[in-house]
Formats: sequence, C-alpha cells, structure tokens
Amino acid sequence: MNRCFLSALLCAFGMNVVTAADIPAHFQQRAKELLADSIALEPCEHQVNVIYFVGSDREPIADYERRLSELLLYLQQYYGREMARNGQGNRSFGLTIKENGEVNIILIKGKEVHTHYAYGSGHNACLEEVNRYFDEHPELRTSQHSFVIMPTHYDEQYNDLNPGGVPFYGLGTNCFALDYAHFDIKHLGQNTKEGRLLTKWYGGFAHELGHGLNLPHNDGTASQNAALGTPLMEAGNYTFGFKPTYMTLASCRILANSEIFAPVGSTIKFYSNNQEPTISSASFSRSGEDTLVLKLELSPEVVNVNAYVQDPPFIVNRDYDAVAFACDMGKAANGNTTAEVNIPLAELAELKNVKGGEMALDILMQTNEGSRFRWRVPFDLNNAPADSSIDMGKPVIWRGY
Ligand code: ZN
Repeated sequence: MNRCFLSALLCAFGMNVVTAADIPAHFQQRAKELLADSIALEPCEHQVNVIYFVGSDREPIADYERRLSELLLYLQQYYGREMARNGQGNRSFGLTIKENGEVNIILIKGKEVHTHYAYGSGHNACLEEVNRYFDEHPELRTSQHSFVIMPTHYDEQYNDLNPGGVPFYGLGTNCFALDYAHFDIKHLGQNTKEGRLLTKWYGGFAHELGHGLNLPHNDGTASQNAALGTPLMEAGNYTFGFKPTYMTLASCRILANSEIFAPVGSTIKFYSNNQEPTISSASFSRSGEDTLVLKLELSPEVVNVNAYVQDPPFIVNRDYDAVAFACDMGKAANGNTTAEVNIPLAELAELKNVKGGEMALDILMQTNEGSRFRWRVPFDLNNAPADSSIDMGKPVIWRGY
C-alpha cells in the first residue's frame, strides 16, 4: 500500500500513528538519502515509548528531536528489512509519529541532578520516575516497552568525543542508550572520528533496543556469518553502519511474536500469562557423527522455539556466541505444538570455549502472548557417540530471556 495513502487513511480514522512516515522536509539531506528507498512497513498496534530523560540540572543536547528521529526511523527500516529477509513480512517496531514527521520523544526531567542517574544503578531511580510519569499520563504510554535515552555526562572523563556515564543496557522490557552532540546519522559509515564513534554508539543503540524488544544475545551459524557478516545481537554493536550486520532468523521470530511488532487490530494481552509451557515429549540425539537433532512436543500455546548452543560458562553476558537455530514448527494431531531442528556440528565452528565436548543447549519457548521460557540442557559431546540419544534430564524451565 502506498505510504501517503496509508497515512491519509490512518489520519482519516483519527490516528496519527504510522510506522513508515513520509520523510519530513526538515530532515537533513543525508537522512533523506538514507530513507529514500524505505520499504512500506505494516502498521503496528503498539509503539515503543521513546523517552529522553535528563537530570534536573541538564537540558537535552541541541537538535535531539530531529537527530534521534532520523536515527530511529533508519533503524526501524533496518529492523523491517531484516524481518522481511527472514520471511517475517515488512514488519518493524512501532513508533509514534508526530504531525511534523518526527518520532514522538517524551522528554522527562528528573527530580534529581544528572549524576543520580549514572551507569550501574541509576536506571532504578530513572525507571521509578518514568513509571510515575506514565501513571500521571497514561494516554502517553503506548506499550510495555520503553527506550530511555540520556545525554552523556560532561566531566573529566566524558564529553562529546568520549560519551558515557549513563545507563547503557537492556533490562526486561526497558533499555537504555545515550545521546551526544555528534550522534547524527550524517556520520554513518564515514571513516572519520565521528563516523567510528557513531558506529559504536548507534550500533549499541540498535543492540540495546533489541534487548528492550525481547532479544537475547546470539550468534549466527558459521555459514550465515560467512555470508551475512555479524549478528546485531552478537557483536553487531561494533559493526553496525560500517560492516555487514544482520539479524538472525531466531531473533526475528522472537520479534514477530512480541508486543511492539503486533499488527494493527491485535487484541493479544502480551506477557500476561505466567504459566510455563508443558513438555509432552523431548528427544535430543546425535545423528551420525555430524548432526544433533532436537525434537519436541509442547503445549499448544507455544508458537516459536529457538535452540541456542553455547560453550561454557553458561551465564549472562557470556552468551554472545550462542549459535542460534530456529526450529521448524508444526502441529500434532492432538493440537500440541511440535518443534524440530537439525544442528550440524560444523555450524558451531565459532564456539571458542568448548572444553572437551562440554556444551549446553538452551531451548527458548515463546508463547502466543510473547512470553519466553527457557530450558537449559547441559551435555558433553564426548559422551554422545554417533547415532545415540543424549540425556536431557528433567526439564527445569524459567521465564525470561
Ligand atoms: Zn547485549
């Protein structure tokens, strides 16, 4: 559908929310060039809350609304193209668009000075104030996902050429990134100090937003990485805009079943069900020498299963290199969900810390209201000869990434 027509249609119904805005006239030339071949994105039912949060003693950095709008709209296109390439349709995260074509960025001024909201634990005080703001302005909360951007500190350590000092990570449905004076899409891909700086912080912005939209770390298979570059949710925050950076099918499947990507008209109450899925049957085996085979039958509410193969240690933030595989999904005659995947050992070539044959298989199960549950199966390849089944133990399932 033509985007202008779509905008007009949505306006006619009293909505000012579109996900593929026409390029505003006041955007800078470089942004217009980068957005010129935008794909038409499906409109979304929910939008990410984009918040610019400053301490009581600070003001936003100049021109933040235009700069961040250009960066967000380009990123929305990037996610949309990766979703389309992975067979998930022209779908991306929803943004609320203002009449002037900029993204609606909610400015919240903190009650305390900026150092109160510093990297490490400052996000707690910030989120408390963000939540209070939304309690007072419920109509401005457009989803359960918030993306909080804070301006860099300026002190003996931090400045516009070495920004930092503020929270920069994802936490559940919230994520944090930063702003600085040169955070401008005109530097994208330029081999200059500002260009290299932009890749670091825009790549980080794209990666942290991924966490805030439900994505765990993951690596691609050896053959995907050879063909496509670096996954955004691996070390793509260091390559974005400079070298080929892609999203895995496993990542896109999670997004496709998440709140911010739900199409207009969706009535799903996202993340509302705390009931863990039931596993009716599970088998994990080594087929021949070279392939692991996972087969599952699960309760019907499971709509997506990803398998991640990790090397030790099996802990948070040591999972960047977990190789992701999206399962083939199906339905059993009894209505249960089936999931099946072949894992060629040659595709795990980038796992660097395998000691002996020690690995773990993480099974991520996503339900029809977007929640994710995990079951971790440690195993040792040395104890798994060809054509034998691997003991999966009793399922221990937890909710989260
Ligand atoms: Zn990360």
